[in-house]
Amino acid sequence: MAFQLPELPYALDALEPYVSRRTLEFHYGKHHQAYVNNANKLAEGTRFEGADLETIIREAEGGLYNNGAQAWNHTFYFMGFGPEGPREPQGALAEAINRDFGSFEKFREEFNQKAATLFGSGWAWLVKDDEGHLSIVQESNAGNPMRRGLTPILTCDVWEHAYYLDYQNRRPDYLASFWNILNWDVISQRY
Ligand code: MN
Repeated sequence: MAFQLPELPYALDALEPYVSRRTLEFHYGKHHQAYVNNANKLAEGTRFEGADLETIIREAEGGLYNNGAQAWNHTFYFMGFGPEGPREPQGALAEAINRDFGSFEKFREEFNQKAATLFGSGWAWLVKDDEGHLSIVQESNAGNPMRRGLTPILTCDVWEHAYYLDYQNRRPDYLASFWNILNWDVISQRY
């Protein structure tokens, strides 16, 4: 079964004014689709043909790793958004964030700081380790923390293609908007 671009659970204009339809048309419709297509092409005829993206993230190298990880990362990123939904963590994740960061506000500050200072293209991640402890990590380019045995909970794409149409070079403005479109029902269930 080849990799597929997933359907989004919201309309392309549902995240406006924070993320525009035009950004989603390119980011989801063009960039995400291209990663899916490239991963399919590069897996063909290798031992990864028919493997899942998680296996590719843990074991593949080079172009297949990059495109397979980008396909997975974008699905994870887009599925964390919604026009509705609680804008704060729920249940066990809310408790873990308070325990490990002090408060949701402090967590947001640290996450924004890590996302803002990531040099070049990449992803900021909230992850948990085997014991359920939370931390925020930066990954360059297609980097995915599952490769290091960590479980992703939340991610923010800081490649310029994620925000340039709406915010040009103003990554901090994009990061400020990010918190207004997160659906913490979905995200909290990942913990
Ligand atoms: Mn992207």
